[in-house]
Amino acid sequence: RQSIGRITTGTDSLDSLLLGGIETQAITEVYGEFGCGKTQFCHALCVTVQKSLEEGGLAGGVLYIDTEGTFRPERIIEIAKVHNMDPSKALDNIIVARAYNSAHQVLILEEAGKIIREENIKLIVSDSTTGLFRAEYLGRGTLANRQQKLGRYIRLLARIAEMYNCAVVATNQVSTSPDTFFGDPTKPVGGNIVGHASTYRIYFRKGGKNKRVAKIIDSPHHPASEEVFELGAKGVQD
Ligand code: ATP
Ligand code: MG
Repeated sequence: RQSIGRITTGTDSLDSLLLGGIETQAITEVYGEFGCGKTQFCHALCVTVQKSLEEGGLAGGVLYIDTEGTFRPERIIEIAKVHNMDPSKALDNIIVARAYNSAHQVLILEEAGKIIREENIKLIVSDSTTGLFRAEYLGRGTLANRQQKLGRYIRLLARIAEMYNCAVVATNQVSTSPDTFFGDPTKPVGGNIVGHASTYRIYFRKGGKNKRVAKIIDSPHHPASEEVFELGAKGVQD
């Protein structure tokens, strides 16, 4: 078994919350309402994972599964510049797979093995994990079906994380629907189906203009603390 790697977030606050950064062989679920910084966090990690081990990265590439069309190359360029990294190299090391429906999203993962090996992928971003599933399976009748398909996707993420010693970041919005099962605005979409398979869960909430608050949920070995960070040129920053 290979040893677990860590990717710095590029911030002291989030690194301290995560005891050094996000781990390989694990799924880190990031959830919170719209605009809380989930996608910005993912963009920041796309750059920091490429740093050397000495600098807190894994000298690896990224597979970015983009289900909402919110990947922004220009953000990567901006973040890379702040880190004094070559922006075009940083972009080259990110493979963006745009998923157009949930079946396509699953297929991308099923076929990802070759790319992960050949491109030395060390981070898989799943942004968002649940959005397409939620949009496609509306109403109670198809709930079981949706949860089953979503479950398969999450198990695939977990297996890939183990098999290739990759870190996985899986974003998830909190529910805003009045539905009783999914209606709690502090609960992630899909009930706990993502959470159950996740090793770590981080909750982001808004705390003023660009300020955000991150909290680790239910971790046996992280302190139940909160950290404040900011959204900005670095994606996430202190
Ligand atoms: P959703 O659930 O809708 O996908 P999210 O959690 O992914 O939301 P992000 O897209 O990560 O949210 O965050 C959007 C916020 O990031 C914007 O409201 C803005 O405040 C901030 N932001 C985006 N780009 C910059 C930037 N270059 N500098 C500062 N803040 C920025
Ligand atoms: Mg987003």
